[in-house]
Amino acid sequence: MTLCDTSSRRLAPRAAARRTIEQHKKRVVENEILFRDVNERLKGVSEGFGDVLPEFDIICECGDAACTQRISMTLDEYEQLRADAKQFAVRPGHEFLDIETIVGDHGGYLVVRKDAGRAAELARESDPRAAQ
Ligand SMILES: [Zn+2]
Repeated sequence: MTLCDTSSRRLAPRAAARRTIEQHKKRVVENEILFRDVNERLKGVSEGFGDVLPEFDIICECGDAACTQRISMTLDEYEQLRADAKQFAVRPGHEFLDIETIVGDHGGYLVVRKDAGRAAELARESDPRAAQ
């Protein structure tokens, strides 16, 4: 929260509140996109060890920039996750239900899918695999 947010809320409460919610959603999805990119690189490294490592660790793809919790999954599970650009893997309890829906529970992690709207668009536009 910046000083700018505080002053704009005082001037126009409703508009500012709406903007704050939009900023929150945008920040959440931007964080998720960032961690997805990190995980794509981790997966690339893990593939080199594919014969010896049945599972590898990715970083929780939740919207909390401070979260660095690990999620273990197989390369197959990871491929299924990445098959849909709107899907992200998060630790249980790290879901943001205002912008996403839980579509899978794997015990150690949940698969969430971005709800239709700007968050889903951002997730799709930034898909690191879209250009391939
Ligand atoms: Zn998390």
